[in-house]
Amino acid sequence: LNSEVGQLIGLYEDAAKLYHHVLMNTQVGEAALTYLHQRGLTDEILNTFNIGFAPTEGLLKPLFEERHVDYQLLRTSGLFIENQDGQLRDRFSGRVMFAIRNGSGKVIAFSGRLLVKDPDAPKYLNSPETKIFHKSETLFNFDLAKREIRKADAVILFEGFMDVIAAYSAGIKNGIASMGTSLTTEQISILQRVAQTLYVSYDGDDAGQNATHRALSLIGSHSNMQLGVIQMPEGLDPDEYLRKYDATQFRAVYEGAKETPVGFALRFLARNRNLDNQSDQLSYINEVLKIVAGVNAPVERDLYLNQLATRFNLDKASLQQQLADVSQNQAPIP
Ligand code: ATP
Ligand code: MN
Ligand code: MN
Ligand code: MN
Repeated sequence: LNSEVGQLIGLYEDAAKLYHHVLMNTQVGEAALTYLHQRGLTDEILNTFNIGFAPTEGLLKPLFEERHVDYQLLRTSGLFIENQDGQLRDRFSGRVMFAIRNGSGKVIAFSGRLLVKDPDAPKYLNSPETKIFHKSETLFNFDLAKREIRKADAVILFEGFMDVIAAYSAGIKNGIASMGTSLTTEQISILQRVAQTLYVSYDGDDAGQNATHRALSLIGSHSNMQLGVIQMPEGLDPDEYLRKYDATQFRAVYEGAKETPVGFALRFLARNRNLDNQSDQLSYINEVLKIVAGVNAPVERDLYLNQLATRFNLDKASLQQQLADVSQNQAPIP
């Protein structure tokens, strides 16, 4: 294949091999390798995910020039930054490199994580869009996860690459992540083609909860997949949870802590309210009833009404009465 696309893919494959080699076998990669080992990544996992290191002194430019790779190709590859004099330098430096593969397993981009914290630089830096990398339709790990997703008829959507990798190393291999930016409708339709059920498993912190809320409504309005939420306790992200506990406890969360989207919404709505205060209680209950009114299955509705009745020590009949009033005044919420 000698097309520009073929050449770009070749370049990214070579770059991934070089970054990986630097990480695994060289002195400039040593600090990064120690860091990754400390984060619990085995060499086997580093190989499987083709993780690498981009040294601060630059790596690709001298090597590709030595090989007489076409300058124009290098310019458009996204692997370099061009200064005003038209000089290229490596885009990624001092970063742990995650290879981003397309659905057929070809490396098409990178995401680089700073090894040393720097307040002036983003923690993760992604490759720019190119002829081979369209961020909005790329899902991290989709090529490896595809078979497992089909087998389970379910996919787990994570927030970060490290979460996908953590789950994989704990034996949960149907996980993928979008590319840092929020989820897109293209990604949703890719997932809908391979699974009936999607679990959102974003970070347990505030940012993760907000993103979960947004993702659920986007997926709900662009697909007919069954949705669930799996959130780690203690505000942790999945990777942090695995490090703090172990693979067995990690898997137990995935088997046992599945929430319905409405169950999540109930928790989400309670987040910024003081539910000891009666006026907050009333507005909360009203918001919840609006959501419950949109649930079609009577048993599921009943489940939430029971939950409310118990939590606020209310008569279920009055909740039902109010639910009926809410339903009359309100179009169903998806
Ligand atoms: P780590 O565990 O390595 O600190 P993380 O995955 O927990 O990383 P988060 O801060 O939770 O990182 O962010 C989740 C995801 O969002 C990251 O995996 C990355 O894809 C993306 N992301 C984070 N920061 C940035 C950034 N500055 N620019 C682009 N994407 C980012
Ligand atoms: Mn996060
Ligand atoms: Mn995180
Ligand atoms: Mn993390």
